[in-house]
Amino acid sequence: MDSNLAPTARTSGVGNRRLTVAVIGGSLTGPVTALLLLRAGIDVTVYEATPVSAPLGGGLIGLEHIALDVLDRLDIPQRDFVAYDSETIRQVAVRDRQPTHTVLRTYPGRNTTWPLLHRALAARLPAGVLRKGMRVTGLTHHAGPPILHFADGQTEPADLVVFADGRSSIGRRLLDPDRKLRYAGYVAHRGIATSIPQPDMRDFVRMEPCPGVQFNVAPVPGGCDWTFYLGCTPATYEQHFGAAPTRRVFALPQHITPAARAHVDEHADHLLPPDHAAVVHATATRMAVPVLDIDPPTRMVWPVGDGHAVLLGDALAPVRPHTARGANNGIEQAAGLAAALTQHRRYGANLPTALHGWQRRHLPTAVAAVQQGPVIGDKLGLGAR
Ligand SMILES: Cc1cc2nc3c(=O)[nH]c(=O)nc-3n(C[C@H](O)[C@H](O)[C@H](O)COP(=O)(O)OP(=O)(O)OC[C@H]3O[C@@H](n4cnc5c(N)ncnc54)[C@H](O)[C@@H]3O)c2cc1C
Repeated sequence: MDSNLAPTARTSGVGNRRLTVAVIGGSLTGPVTALLLLRAGIDVTVYEATPVSAPLGGGLIGLEHIALDVLDRLDIPQRDFVAYDSETIRQVAVRDRQPTHTVLRTYPGRNTTWPLLHRALAARLPAGVLRKGMRVTGLTHHAGPPILHFADGQTEPADLVVFADGRSSIGRRLLDPDRKLRYAGYVAHRGIATSIPQPDMRDFVRMEPCPGVQFNVAPVPGGCDWTFYLGCTPATYEQHFGAAPTRRVFALPQHITPAARAHVDEHADHLLPPDHAAVVHATATRMAVPVLDIDPPTRMVWPVGDGHAVLLGDALAPVRPHTARGANNGIEQAAGLAAALTQHRRYGANLPTALHGWQRRHLPTAVAAVQQGPVIGDKLGLGAR
């Protein structure tokens, strides 16, 4: 390359490449990707299967500084999605239902909730970008760009398809079909309570009353959000939530049977301090998430016709919740993808090379988080390794 050429001369005629991007999934990773790409001047449409957004992945979500900074750069002030700005994790030892000892740790980030973050993101998507009720069912090409197929028979072309469609991603099933979800043998039971265990609660609290059990609780607007990890056989999961764990990857409030509710209440009565058990009992809105494993990803980018498809967020690799990396990975990958596409659009960077550079940078972090989950689970006595 002639180093005497001025940057403008080197890049003249290569800027402003048009690129249409289809983002599949309108939860967290999808909207972050779309907002970043819109900022880069790229045409984006987000296709979301559900007609109405509902919290799926997690209630309370810890975001580390890189993810927080990405949101900052999108001009989303933290007050829009962080209701309690505590960085403290209270790790409380519990014996015979009494707190015995508390260790304070500092989390390098802040806690948000799915509804707060999703609302903050969705509110910033310009009209027409998010198309709801559009379930992707297939991806083809006819010696041209990738073509998305939707459940209602519509088709849409795009130069780049970004699958951010979560744990049971159609993108992963189409592009990387050998990586199947495996049930890890325990469930994150979740509740959004309208009461709190202590009136002055501000911090994230973690209790491990015995091996094989963990209870996390933190304040959220209007009450608290708790997660109770308990072992559960596949047969019991099916009885309690109506389908096998790898099929019903989220048990929503309508799937929670009275038996599932009683199971959680009984464990709270046996294991948790009475004030926390009382909050569990009083919680009307409950959900459950089976903890799932998957083989680590070996790639994030696929050529499709004369375009590409990529996987990111939970679509690439759902990770165990204890890693607290799912949403962080998705946001960091989205920011990296936007950087690569910006280099292509503005400066004519070779697109396949830019995408592979992005993959090289982000794949190891995703692999590490997938591998870390069973290690943490093992330490807690949760699930099988
Ligand atoms: C108990 C618990 C605690 C957690 N704590 C943390 C934490 O502290 N920190 C952290 O970083 N992460 C945490 N996570 C993980 C985090 O919640 C997820 O990683 C995150 O929500 C994934 O976001 P996503 O947008 O990639 O996928 P999802 O939120 O699963 O969204 C996928 C979207 O795609 C849509 N979709 C699916 N299929 C299709 C289709 N065929 N066509 C069109 N749209 C489709 C879905 O409707 C959905 O809206 C936690 C998870 C749990 C369960």
